[in-house]
Amino acid sequence: MLTPAYNMYIGGKWVKSVTGETFLSVNPATEQKIGKFQHGNEEDVKKAIDAAERALPAWSDTPAPKRGLVLLKIAELLKKDKERLGRLVTMEMGKVLSEGLGDVQEAIDIFEYMAGEGRRLLGHTTTSELPDKFAMTIRTPVGVTGLITPWNFPIAIPSWKLSAALICGNTVVMKPSSDTPLCATELVKVMEKAGVPSGVVNLVTGPAKTVGREIVKNRKISGLSFTGSRETGEWIMSNVGVKKVGLELGGKNPIIVMDDADLNLALDGIIWGAFGTTGQRCTACSRVLVHKAVKEKFMKMLVERTKKLRLGNGLDKKTDVGPLVNEAAAKKSEKYVAIGKDEGARMLCGGERPSGRGFFFQPTIFSDVAPGMRIAQEEIFGPVLSVIEISNLDEAIEIANSTDYGLSSSMYTNDVRNAFLAMRKIEAGITYINSPTIGAEVHLPFGGVKKTGFTREAGMEGIEEFSHSKTLYIDYSGRLQKAQIDVK
Ligand code: ADP
Repeated sequence: MLTPAYNMYIGGKWVKSVTGETFLSVNPATEQKIGKFQHGNEEDVKKAIDAAERALPAWSDTPAPKRGLVLLKIAELLKKDKERLGRLVTMEMGKVLSEGLGDVQEAIDIFEYMAGEGRRLLGHTTTSELPDKFAMTIRTPVGVTGLITPWNFPIAIPSWKLSAALICGNTVVMKPSSDTPLCATELVKVMEKAGVPSGVVNLVTGPAKTVGREIVKNRKISGLSFTGSRETGEWIMSNVGVKKVGLELGGKNPIIVMDDADLNLALDGIIWGAFGTTGQRCTACSRVLVHKAVKEKFMKMLVERTKKLRLGNGLDKKTDVGPLVNEAAAKKSEKYVAIGKDEGARMLCGGERPSGRGFFFQPTIFSDVAPGMRIAQEEIFGPVLSVIEISNLDEAIEIANSTDYGLSSSMYTNDVRNAFLAMRKIEAGITYINSPTIGAEVHLPFGGVKKTGFTREAGMEGIEEFSHSKTLYIDYSGRLQKAQIDVK
């Protein structure tokens, strides 16, 4: 069968790269080719930036509620196309269909939410220290904004960034992950159909080392929003120059199971948190900190349930866990299994790559993990879970906080004191009580602390990443008044 070919979207036109080259996107469950994409380079990015610059004045002058109507239209079209797009998510990155559909639903939700923000874009009014003087802030666009997105939420994460960037009046150059260019292309097609004006959104597909780096370094780009690995995030921080930067760089997210927890509830949450999306969420649970009083009982339940999970193509309704995104990801899980064994952790189940096509990896549990082991510290981004024993709340929180990351976290407990101490003391951008580390809602801020980054996306805070706060003073006293100097 002929592999369909796709172009990039620059200045409102679907165009080929100047390189004349293409690359392939592959279904990770079947290893079948699903599309050929333009292998863009620096010159393509520069064209996209020029288009975004030209489109900026008219878009930023469009009243925000009108921009919001375009976002609402995008949400409406996504709703109509949800089934098809959800299947594309599953075909291109592997997550099971219910999650593929969830990916699209998250995009619908954020476009609706940000459309509403167009009627607010709140600044604040306040008092002045001088008489007959008025003070307030408004939000202004950042300008041409670069978006660099990963493959694990190939519709939702671009949508978080696009919706917020657009409602704030910015224009955009987006580079999707080379593992999921089809999802990004289909999303941009929906945006085109919804009436996003030419040049407001530009899509350049291609490698990190040309397309990605040009977006990071180009001085005409004023804002950069990135979600991806810590290594790339650190490279970006050292190379980005003076830009408004947003970063979200993963996690090593713990779930604490206290001795008073509802163990069945914790079990459901951990299975979903650790093995949903095959462990490839930045908020995936990769450490379980279980109280020694319930450990033995709980481990039996956990291993038994994990062994029952069915690996397979995400389009198959019977599948619980889909493939990893690519060969490198499967090798990475394999590598960490070997590291875990070497470190002396005890593997209770999984650890293998089934034979045959596709980048599958069995859900894997390590017990007897010490908090400092590499499998308890480093982001694996696969279905490999480390279990650590704890004896009390203080120890649980200390171990939860003992990694560089700080994105999501969770505690299962029925004791209100445990819950409130966890909410206050765990170093993370998000803490859940009695639900797993995943499940963000779009009207609340999302982001981390420590080496996860410092950005908040979604919610009202998501507006801040894509806008400046401008301060306005209006003096109606009719005379020169001097702040600080006029103090008697
Ligand atoms: P992952 O592939 O695990 O999501 P990466 O950080 O490698 O994490 O990739 C996230 C996104 O960043 C992808 O779109 C990738 O192509 C891009 N990227 C990777 N390295 C760079 C870089 N040095 N500069 C700009 N973009 C990059």
